[in-house]
Amino acid sequence: MNVATKETLGFQAEVKQLLQLMIHSLYSNKEIFLRELISNASDAADKLRFEGIAHPDWYGDDPDLKIKVEIDKAARIVAISDNGIGMSREEVINNLGTIARSGTKEFFSKLSGDQQKDAALIGQFGVGFYSAFIVADRIVVETRRAGFPASDGVRWESDGSGEFTIETIDRPQRGTSIKLHLREGEDDFLNSYKLKSIIRKYSDHISLPIQMCKEEWDDDKKEQVIKDELENINQTSALWTRNKSEITEEQYDEFYKHLSHDYERPLCYSLNRVEGRSEFTQLLFVPSRAPFDLWDRNKRGGIKLYVKRIFIMDDAEKLMPMYLRFVTGVIDSVDLPLNVSREILQESRDIKVIRESSTKRVLSMLEELANSEDEIKKGKYRTFWTQFGQVIKEGVGEDQANQERILKLLRFASTHTDSAEQTVSLAEYVSRMKEGQDKIYYVTGESFNAAKNSPHLEIFRKKGVEVLLLSDRVDEWMLSFITEFDGKQLASVAKGGLDLGSLSDESEKKEHEETQKQFQDLVERMKKTLENKAKDVRVTFRLTDSPACLIADENELSGNLLRMLKAAGQNAPDMKPILEINPEHPLLSKLKNDDQNFDDWTNLLFDQALLAEGGQLNDPASFVRRMNQLLLN
Ligand code: ADP
Ligand code: MG
Repeated sequence: MNVATKETLGFQAEVKQLLQLMIHSLYSNKEIFLRELISNASDAADKLRFEGIAHPDWYGDDPDLKIKVEIDKAARIVAISDNGIGMSREEVINNLGTIARSGTKEFFSKLSGDQQKDAALIGQFGVGFYSAFIVADRIVVETRRAGFPASDGVRWESDGSGEFTIETIDRPQRGTSIKLHLREGEDDFLNSYKLKSIIRKYSDHISLPIQMCKEEWDDDKKEQVIKDELENINQTSALWTRNKSEITEEQYDEFYKHLSHDYERPLCYSLNRVEGRSEFTQLLFVPSRAPFDLWDRNKRGGIKLYVKRIFIMDDAEKLMPMYLRFVTGVIDSVDLPLNVSREILQESRDIKVIRESSTKRVLSMLEELANSEDEIKKGKYRTFWTQFGQVIKEGVGEDQANQERILKLLRFASTHTDSAEQTVSLAEYVSRMKEGQDKIYYVTGESFNAAKNSPHLEIFRKKGVEVLLLSDRVDEWMLSFITEFDGKQLASVAKGGLDLGSLSDESEKKEHEETQKQFQDLVERMKKTLENKAKDVRVTFRLTDSPACLIADENELSGNLLRMLKAAGQNAPDMKPILEINPEHPLLSKLKNDDQNFDDWTNLLFDQALLAEGGQLNDPASFVRRMNQLLLN
């Protein structure tokens, strides 16, 4: 290929937007550009180590991978170079002209224009290479891909305003060099002490040497002079290979930020060496905030796989179950072959062992937070649940082997707290159960308010029996996998007959039987009227304020679930609900004594009950007509 011509190309619209945003919102944290560029250089070395397994000749006479940071005070340039994989012309255009990361669209759609909010978001997105424009008004990248001839070097140049140029150059050495022409006022970054301290702060965990020239005081010149001799700035051992006692909190934090592109500290982490049939190291982090692409089906997994310190792949989704997809970290295996492919991973027994062990590790970390008496840890668990609770709920169905542990991690909104925040555990619920109560009661609704105000709750509120309020999309699905907790069945208050067990006393029961007899005729007439709408009509004692409610039969799908299925475009079975009426309600007396409008009253009661549980009327116009008719009477 010979494309020696110089081309001028425009940045993708998103890049322009990102550059604008970054320069204006990250000015208080400019130094992160160095972390981003060093992180890219380190990734490039990882890629060469991996591809180099099949192409040892790519190393040529330059086998020791390293990163160099150089300062040219006179020209006001900071340069970061690596001898990693490098980039082809095409790769440069793609990588340094667009943002190809998954979830980019969602990210941009979430920007509000409010600088402070957007600054927080951009941190989550990870700014990468483009962050160099915070401190530089001109950037020159020279690179050559490993294995390509010297004549296939590439120079990329841009002032970050909208366009870049690209041309083919001669470049004897492989890898990438990035020259930053500093903006006016950024001369701080020409100070090698400052650069060294930034590198140690953010990049100490990088496993290859980061080198800078030594600097010495020259007594004659009365200034610091840069010498020819190089020194290593970082510790050069991968963080997870060090002894726990030698790793500081800050180093964990920085390593996490390097892995995840997150700007916030992780919520918790865990480093372990596992020996036995399978030997590996796992370093796992739970973020303190959900990534913006948590619900993106194509989201990359957060676990990097290494084999004997050699990077093999990101996004090793086989290493963590789906419901723990927010966990980031590193697995370094001793047993896997270096040429392991995704196909091999599917089958591998070692991978299965690693996955099981990592799953248990994460659950233990979460249990430690969840069960702690320590206020800080408790607070962390609340944060965790707010951010990731819905994802953990997927685990109830996905990971039956660990179901018992997962059930204990669940938190719910409940009539006990009456707050939308989910804080009540099943164990806590059980500990508060009324004397004679043998079930864990819940109600599902489309929103917290729909659940909280459900007419089905009336009798439970009256008797002071706690009911869990479920309104996450995943709840109905999750419930289908739970049979019991701590020997107690879970029971929907909107399903089946109302059996409060020994919660209702004998005299109450007698009274109820009496009332039922009195309403027998009425119920039969209503059944006729509602033939096409309701499976059955019966008297209930679960209501105190509402005249009627709908109930699903014991073994049928609840109204809420049917609506969700329909909304998702699925074939929902046609199931008729049961109408239950409140004999104490004055509307029922009206119904008894108004023969002329009997049908209208009956239909109105049914439609009201459907609306109250968040359902949609089949024939809204008739509902309105009936209501107006009755209002005028
Ligand atoms: P990310 O690192 O998250 O992919 P960046 O914006 O930091 O995003 O980098 C974009 C891409 O540019 C990288 O994925 C990589 O392919 C390429 N790249 C950046 N720096 C280098 C480098 N020093 N060597 C090789 N490729 C690089
Ligand atoms: Mg990067």
